[in-house]
Amino acid sequence: MHDCQNGNAPLHKWDAERYEALPLPHVEWGKRVVGWLELTGDERVVEAGAGTGRDAHNRLLDMAMLELRPTCENCNAALPPHSTEAMICSFECTFCRACVENILANVCPNCGGGFCPRPIRPKRDWKNGDYLGAYPASTVVRHRPVHPVLHKKFAQSIQTIPPEMR
Ligand SMILES: [Zn+2]
Ligand SMILES: [Zn+2]
Repeated sequence: MHDCQNGNAPLHKWDAERYEALPLPHVEWGKRVVGWLELTGDERVVEAGAGTGRDAHNRLLDMAMLELRPTCENCNAALPPHSTEAMICSFECTFCRACVENILANVCPNCGGGFCPRPIRPKRDWKNGDYLGAYPASTVVRHRPVHPVLHKKFAQSIQTIPPEMR
C-alpha cells in the first residue's frame, strides 16, 4: 500500500492488490495489447501502470508456456488439447501414445529423452483467466515422420536406460 500526498489535497490511498482483484475489462484489453509485443525472451519488461504488473507478467508466462501442438509429429494423428493420447518430451516434442510405445520405444527422436502424458489445460476459467480460451492450443503442425530404421539404430542404446538416468 502506498500513500500519495499532494499539498492540501485529500490523502489518496492506492492499493494495487485490491485494484487487481476487481473484475475489470482492462484485464482482457491488457492481455490483447501485450500480446502484440514480439518478444524473444531476453528483454526486460517494465510495466508502468497502476496495477501489480500482471499483464506484463502474463505475457512473459505466455512465452514460457507449454505449446499444445495439434498433431503427432510422426503419424500426424490429431491431438486436440483435451487428448489423453498426447505425449511430450521435455522440449515439447509431441507424439501420440501409440507412436511413443510402438515406434519410438520411449526415446524422443529429437533429443533422446523420454515422454510423459501432456497435461490438459483447463477449458474453463477456473481461476485468474488461465485457461484454453486465453491461451489456446497451437495450430502449427509439425509433421516430421521418423525414419524407422534410423530411429531404431538411434534408440537401441538409449531405450534400455530409464529416462531419469539418461
Ligand atoms: Zn503418432
Ligand atoms: Zn525431445
